[in-house]
Amino acid sequence: MKLFDSQSLELRAFEPLVPGAVSIYVCGPTVQSAPHVGHLRSALVYDLWSRWFSYRGYAVTLIRNVTDIDDKILEACHDSATQWWELAEAVQADFQDAADALGIERPTAQPRATGHIPDMLELISTLLASGHAYSADNGSGDVYFDVSQWPNYGELTHQKVEDLQQGSGDTGGKKNPEDFALWKGHKAGEPATASWSAPWGAGRPGWHLECTAMATRYLGSQFDIHGGGMDLRFPHHENELAQARAAGHSYASHWLHNALVTANGQKMSKSLGNGVLAGELLEQARPLVVRYALASAHYRSELDLHEGFLTEAAAALGRIEVFLARATREFGEVEAGPVPAAFETAMDDDLGIPSALAVIHDAVRAGNQAADSEKNDAFRGAASEVRAMMAILGMDPLDPRWATGSSDDSVVASMVTKILAARQEAKNERRFDVADALRDALDSAGIDIHDGPNESTWSIRG
Ligand SMILES: [Zn+2]
Repeated sequence: MKLFDSQSLELRAFEPLVPGAVSIYVCGPTVQSAPHVGHLRSALVYDLWSRWFSYRGYAVTLIRNVTDIDDKILEACHDSATQWWELAEAVQADFQDAADALGIERPTAQPRATGHIPDMLELISTLLASGHAYSADNGSGDVYFDVSQWPNYGELTHQKVEDLQQGSGDTGGKKNPEDFALWKGHKAGEPATASWSAPWGAGRPGWHLECTAMATRYLGSQFDIHGGGMDLRFPHHENELAQARAAGHSYASHWLHNALVTANGQKMSKSLGNGVLAGELLEQARPLVVRYALASAHYRSELDLHEGFLTEAAAALGRIEVFLARATREFGEVEAGPVPAAFETAMDDDLGIPSALAVIHDAVRAGNQAADSEKNDAFRGAASEVRAMMAILGMDPLDPRWATGSSDDSVVASMVTKILAARQEAKNERRFDVADALRDALDSAGIDIHDGPNESTWSIRG
């Protein structure tokens, strides 16, 4: 298996620290507001990695934290009757519901930052004792990491401290503008429940520190993979790594970063107002369609939520579903069999899902051709391959977990596909009255047709 290590910036063969096992830490959501598509994509990417490692025989330990104390969570509850911990709990539950709906397997553990304050205090004590951290001299109770005392700072993202532009303006009690907070002293106006006592003054942990403390608590001083969204590389992961190494931990052997989700080519952000919530996407299509849509791009490519994003996924997935429904009608049951070597090659190559999906669609085409020419062994073989490959990706349409109406959906998909084919034939023969009548029939049944340059796709009107 090869993976793209975003520290060395090259494809590297995966070499586990412990043979047959893989330990992964992934930065989870900061639970301040309803989860957006970016959160779900990130969770799905590591679900797919974890499924592939399992398929390859590794025992997977996946830790995904929940940042449940943070400036943003406190800000969101400022001037509100809602307690910060109440908001954190509610948002975490929303995130979990969306992840469950998409069939994202629960990580081995999901530690919450507030449950690990003693680990964080210990880490800060170590850094203070070794001279890598200091208490601010302005009485704020803040503790900072001293970047000037860590010559390797920048090793993750290949930056030199003198080139960094962060922390301009008021530096508070910092010695260097690049220094970052390990501990934030309690401020007047902040709730007493957001403060823990510490030898250097009551307060709360800094975000970067939280992850280092939790990663080493669960996975030890050295572990295989640290993952997260591309937006976390700097400063979050650079800072995590600096404080971990300065405290004597080897930390992650490989770093993975997934690309972000864009909306019509633009970065999604709160300020642009174009953020798409997980719940909104799940209202527009079946969970399996959403899973297929979010999984279909390579994890290192941006995923663009353009017009037709879900209908394209529904059409592609529909071809697989209709094929498997055809095989089930023919053979009663389709057992998952071995998968084609090309599928394994694609997945081994840095989780090449787009190539793996191409192998699946090739098998569907070959299977349909075999069925058309009544070559039943080849038909059955293709169906068992398709089912096995889809199951590895957590998208087996015949899995009862997707069963909510899925057999009805397959029937609908099959009918609509056939009607669209008849309509295309009518158009080719310039029998436009027939083509229009077929479209009107679908329309009155609540099905929208989207005519593209090469083919027509469809969706059920929501
Ligand atoms: Zn993190």
